[in-house]
Amino acid sequence: MRIEAALMTKVGQPLKIEKIELASPGPKEVLVEIKATGVCHSDLNALHDSTTPCPCVLGHEASGIVQEVGRDVRLVRPGDRVVLSWLPYCGTCTFCTRGKFTLCEMAFGPMFAGTLLDGTTRLQRPDHSDEKVYHYSLLSTFASHAVVPEMSCIKIPNQMPFAEASLLGCGVGTGFGAVVRTAKVEPGSHVAVFGIGGVGISAIQAARISGAERIFACDLKAQNLEFAKQFGATDTILIQDTPAEETIRAATGGSGVDYAIDATGSPVAFQSAFSSLKKGGSLVVVGAFASGKSISLPGGGFHRMGKSIQGSFYGDINPLRDLPMLAELYLKGKLQLSELVLEKIPLKQINEAFATFANPQALTAGRSVVVLE
Ligand SMILES: [Zn+2]
Ligand SMILES: [Zn+2]
Repeated sequence: MRIEAALMTKVGQPLKIEKIELASPGPKEVLVEIKATGVCHSDLNALHDSTTPCPCVLGHEASGIVQEVGRDVRLVRPGDRVVLSWLPYCGTCTFCTRGKFTLCEMAFGPMFAGTLLDGTTRLQRPDHSDEKVYHYSLLSTFASHAVVPEMSCIKIPNQMPFAEASLLGCGVGTGFGAVVRTAKVEPGSHVAVFGIGGVGISAIQAARISGAERIFACDLKAQNLEFAKQFGATDTILIQDTPAEETIRAATGGSGVDYAIDATGSPVAFQSAFSSLKKGGSLVVVGAFASGKSISLPGGGFHRMGKSIQGSFYGDINPLRDLPMLAELYLKGKLQLSELVLEKIPLKQINEAFATFANPQALTAGRSVVVLE
């Protein structure tokens, strides 16, 4: 079928809106009509990454309606409203059988090759028949339609609005999972979140829902900190000259926080987050450090402090369980998603949403959401 898509044709160049061909879904694939798709910082990173298979259609957080299913698909049917998960899993490997679905390695080869799970693509430019068009994160949602793996389709209630639903599959799921699934934050605890972007703001909100008593938001941008207050931050720390850990210790009677969530990807913030913990506290690292970067900590006394450090990929969530649960929390008024949608734009304005990320004055804790009519 002929679809409309925003195509990445060259590294760092604006996306081009084009009509391209999308092939029918394979046996375990699903054709989804995309209704809303968030513009995530990872899309911007991919646009500027020379290793991204190109030309390709970016986009990996989206919601839509199932149009057609392959002959072996069991999870969804045409007409179902779905949110898409960018990390499908196999269900049978050593990680999946222990419930560690985000560690499943099935998707990575195809993901980095820019294909679907069977190693082939479904996209084609009509006037470039000798050239492949690659997928991104097995989804490619900056388009009117997408063919995706069955395991990426998570059914959500029909009352769930599309723009809000689109956020669940990446930043919200990751931030929520880091707090609830990885850290397992308890009521009454003190939590510090470093880096208030799409993930950090959801970690703040998850800490509030988990009953945390003090929630410190730490960021380089005052506008992100102000935004964090409406999601549950009780204290905001603008990272400037005074190290954040000193401010946190002073505010907690010298002891520090029970949990720190590092969503920055910065080795300096990582050290700060670790130092902000009280004895026995847990640091969850959810931000991605650039490859080649090292992280280090002072070794003296490490063994006496009883602190733990854990990496959290996609928030350690089980998408089939957790994304519908998050939709229910939204429908019950407990999870704020509408407030995260900063603007709704048509596909043709997608390059303006990318420009927002580069603007130092712009609020970057919410999302521009592309809405397709
Ligand atoms: Zn994302
Ligand atoms: Zn697996």
